[in-house]
Formats: sequence, structure tokens, C-alpha cells
Amino acid sequence: MLNINPNVIELSKKVEKDIKKEFDNVNEICEYNSLKVLNAFHKHSINEVHFNMTTGYGYGDIGRDTIEEVYATIFNAEDALVRGQFISGTHALTVTLFGLLRPNDTLLSITGKPYDTLEEVIGIVPNDSSLKSFGVNYEQIDLINDDFDYESITKRLQENFVKVIEIQRSKGYSTRKSIVLKNVEKVIQLIKEISPETIVMIDNCYCEFVTTKEPTEVGADIVVGSLIKNLGGGIAPNGAYVVGKKDLIKLVSERLTVPGEGKEVGPSMGMNKQILQGLFMAPSVVSSSLKTAIFASKMLEELGFDVEPKYNDERADIVQNIIFNNPDKLIKYCQGIQEASPIDSNAKPEPWDMPGYTDKIIMAAGAFTQGSSIELSCDGPIRKPYIAYMQGGLTYEYGKIGVMKAISNVIED
Ligand SMILES: *Cc1c(COP(=O)(O)O)cnc(C)c1O
Repeated sequence: MLNINPNVIELSKKVEKDIKKEFDNVNEICEYNSLKVLNAFHKHSINEVHFNMTTGYGYGDIGRDTIEEVYATIFNAEDALVRGQFISGTHALTVTLFGLLRPNDTLLSITGKPYDTLEEVIGIVPNDSSLKSFGVNYEQIDLINDDFDYESITKRLQENFVKVIEIQRSKGYSTRKSIVLKNVEKVIQLIKEISPETIVMIDNCYCEFVTTKEPTEVGADIVVGSLIKNLGGGIAPNGAYVVGKKDLIKLVSERLTVPGEGKEVGPSMGMNKQILQGLFMAPSVVSSSLKTAIFASKMLEELGFDVEPKYNDERADIVQNIIFNNPDKLIKYCQGIQEASPIDSNAKPEPWDMPGYTDKIIMAAGAFTQGSSIELSCDGPIRKPYIAYMQGGLTYEYGKIGVMKAISNVIED
């Protein structure tokens, strides 16, 4: 079956004993977040009527409106925008930035260069529709040793007004570590002391439900993420969310739809049930993804590969890096993940030029939902040091099988 190497199966038995403590911790977080979701469903009295849909303008969509209340409750935030009209996480981040920033305003990233697909949005890579083309300034402060450069941030904020600060928690395709919430909390305190009017915006992709708190609970003004990642639970067919302060959500909603109409329009077109069911599943699906990541981390470490995070590190997101230092091993690993996927298992992924990315990328994803990376998926840019970015796993069992197949491919190479 799947030609998993017997030595890999043998090793997996030992590894699963070694990671028991980490799994117990993941289970505890899952239980807490499940309670959080259930409480929100009860508080807003979710019932069958919320599965109904609207079409056309989407006036009076009580399912959609209640979903947004449920999201606001879970995030401990004033308001939320949860829509299928967002076609991706990047789209939601784009609409948020264009909603908040005006000509001559400054956007400051304090986590170094943002996610690849935002380069043309911001104008780091020239584009006639970028924020820069509208006269929005962009500045960036790099991380130091995977933590914020508190000194440079202080100095910059004392100079003149910064409208929006962006913090990207997950590492994207960089070599840095993802940022744990206590560091986010510390930097937000500093920002608010010096410049209380500066809007702190979080790219929260891959981080939801990894711990028991979300960024809005440590002072973030607005938080953005994708529904084909953690919170969609593998069931939401597309979409993204934005949660935060009411006045900011209004600005974002009027950029997504129409000034003067904002959240009042936007048909749910039959997605309400899937968004609710996905959210209901999300704590458990995120916990499966974390277990798959922990398992992979320990397996590959045992085999002498460089991994980040280590199996027993504190995690900020569901992403597991394997640093292959070798393009062929990276490709073989990704191809193994693809072979063990439920969908498109016969496809053989090859590196290609993807829109929005600079380097060639290899992407393995045999997913029910196109591009869904809460389903087991693995990708990486073909550039040194040839890092695999693996994430997802709707169940731990399928995740484990995928990892064992991918490892078999690499060691037999
Ligand atoms: C996935 C991701 C995004 C958005 O990606 P989409 O593919 O557009 O949904 C943005 N930032 C980070 C850090 C991500 O991981």
C-alpha cells in the first residue's frame, strides 16, 4: 500500500511515543477552542434558519450577519466581515489595506518583507494598481533574531505619524520563525504607548486556534485571515474574514462592496452552512494539522534533517519547515505528499512560475478545495536553502500517512 518504506513505519512507532506530551498539549488547546466556538454558537442562537441563502444584492441575509457576530464573539472583537466575496487571504489583506490607507499615509511593516503576493499590492514590485500608485508610502523594519526591532520601531514612531502597522505572524516563504502571541502583545503595547492612533493590523493566516488566544485579545485593531486555511475547517469552499474595531470594519466593508452600502450587501449564495460547519470543525482540524506537523518535525529530525520548528517548540502557526539544502529532495518530498493525497494523487507536481510569486514554486496539494492549505499540502520556492513549507491535515491519520509517504520518497532517492 502506497509503498511506504518499512524503516519509516518502524521509526514512526518510536516517534509517536516521543511526541505524546506535545499531543496532549494540542488536545487541551483543541478542547478550549471547541468550547469557545460552541459558546459563540449558543450566544447567537444559531439555528437552521441561518443556513438560508440570499442571491443578488444579498439584503437582509440573517445567516451571513449572524456568522459575522459569531466571528466577532470568538475573536473578542467589536465587529467582523466574513465573506465569500473575498477570493483569497491576499484579497482580504488587499481590501483591508486599501480600506484603511489614503494618499500620503504611511504603511509600516514591522515583520520585514510581507508575504510574496503582497509585493505588487503594496508596490514593492511595481504595479499600476498598487497602493504606491495611489500615493501610499511603504516602509519596513526587519526582525532581529526572529523578534521585533523594538528600538527602531520606537524611533520611527517618534518621528512622524504612521497610519497602519502590519504584523505578519506566519513566516510566509521566509526563513524566519513565526511570531508567538506574547511578542505580538509586547510590541502592540509599545506601539500604543507612543502612537495610540496608529492602526495595528495583523495578517493572522495559519495562526487561528493554534493557541487559546487571538490577536484582538492582545490589542490588535484589525485581524485578517483566509477561510481556506484554519477557520474554514476544510469545509468552507472559499472566502476570508476580517475582524476588529467597528469603524475599521466599516471602512473595509465599504471598500469590498460600495461606499454607503458596506456590510448590508453581499449575497451568501448557499455558503452559510459550510462556513458555520467549517468553523465548528476548525479547532479539531487545526489540532490534526498541528499533530501532523509535530510528527513530521520529529520524524525528519530523527533522520538528520534540519527542521523548524522542532517538535517540542512553542508553535505560532500550523506550518512545518524542513530545510532540505537540496532541490531534488524538496521536490521528492512534495511529490510524496501529492501521491498520498485523496484527490489528484496521480498528478506529479513540478516547479512552475506562479502568478504573484518571484521564484519558481513547487506545490503539492491534492485537495477537495482548490488551493486549500488546511488540507495536507506542501510547497516551497526553488531557492536556497530549499525549504519545504508543509501544513494542514484534515485528520491526523491522513496527515501521518502523507508524511510517511513523502519521507519514503526522500530516503529512497
Ligand atoms: C496564505 C497566506 C496569505 C494569503 O494567501 P492566499 O493564498 O491569498 O489566501 C497571506 N499571508 C500569509 C502569511 C499566508 O500564509
